[in-house]
Amino acid sequence: MKHFRIFATCDIGEAINLLRARGYEVEVYPHPEPPPKSLIVEKVKSGIDGLITTLRDPIDAEIFEAGKGHLRVVAQYAVGFDNINRADANRYKIPFTHTADVLTEATAEFAVFMMGELARKMWTAEHLTRENRWGYWHPYLPFLGDEITGKTVAVIGTGRIGLAFIKKCVGFDMNIACYDPAYQNHDFVKSIQEMLDLRHARGFAREKSWIKYVGFEDALRQADFVSVHVPLLREGESDTPTYHLFNEQSLRYMKPTAYLVNTSRGPVIDEAALARALKETWIAGAALDVYEKEPLPLDSPLRDPAIEDRCRLMPHFASAARITRLSTDPEKGMAGRCVQGLMDVLEGNYGGDITKMPYVVNKEAFVK
Ligand code: NAD
Repeated sequence: MKHFRIFATCDIGEAINLLRARGYEVEVYPHPEPPPKSLIVEKVKSGIDGLITTLRDPIDAEIFEAGKGHLRVVAQYAVGFDNINRADANRYKIPFTHTADVLTEATAEFAVFMMGELARKMWTAEHLTRENRWGYWHPYLPFLGDEITGKTVAVIGTGRIGLAFIKKCVGFDMNIACYDPAYQNHDFVKSIQEMLDLRHARGFAREKSWIKYVGFEDALRQADFVSVHVPLLREGESDTPTYHLFNEQSLRYMKPTAYLVNTSRGPVIDEAALARALKETWIAGAALDVYEKEPLPLDSPLRDPAIEDRCRLMPHFASAARITRLSTDPEKGMAGRCVQGLMDVLEGNYGGDITKMPYVVNKEAFVK
């Protein structure tokens, strides 16, 4: 087998040794923070065959130009690939892979936890205890939260993670308003309705619950919770862009008692509008895992102490579960899936037909 040279912009654990055991020469950027783009360009220029990237690395024409003649694959350690310029990759005919599916359940359950954490004000409640401000048990003081059981949740984006999130909401007997202009899984929705009906028929649920596809405004207007599961698609990248999908207008569709959860990508929400919505109580709260700029800048309006009781801020953490992140098994972990995608391309698996390789994203560039 050819001696392949790889540069990884971050350490993805034991999976690197899996490559080394196959004779690959792998250099790993040794620091936890992202490498400067100039360094990625330099490493690519040095003649590598494959580049392991993650969502922090801007991958565009400059990188592909540096890799001309030798770079054969970019293996992205993430499901989202908004950091990779797909049109540029296609122009240079470089396949890029991603790690879909293996982080679906971890991300979906995190969204459920954030919904609960927001609704029951757990962060504020724990602060009470820790700061010794918990003086008595009382029927409604110092504050109450809201149940999620039996409430209506709007699921924005019914792809892999949206559907996994819906499965978990069944256990809370929620009504589910789905919105997805590009992909509607009516068979799935029918099965979920059957499960909701069965839970009611067997006495597990007191009230009957429902699930259906509705329009965006309709979903937001009736929801007690809104959970966002869309990719970041900027203007021109899709007929249904998601950049600032949540802005002043759409946030105002939501009920003043409603909560917003975002585990998708930061720029899907206009943060200045959200900070206003929280401050002026157009909505009851928001829990965010992702931001327009990461890490969250010190001067972000989302850090305003005036809204800290209703604004939960997580450090892009939804997929951060041990097996999800590091398992070398491509059926279980992002690391395993990332290196498998890389090997598929470099070692010419699937008869060398890139359009048949399951983890390659931009197959359209390789259709003969
Ligand atoms: P997916 O491609 O399976 O699903 C995305 C869905 O969004 C698709 O069904 C698509 O039709 C839909 N969509 C597209 N445009 C839309 C629009 N304008 N309005 C509503 N729906 C729209 O992707 P997935 O695996 O479910 O992942 C979704 C996103 O979640 C990823 O792209 C990634 O950015 C993000 N993510 C974040 C984390 C995290 O750690 N916070 C972890 C995993 C994924």
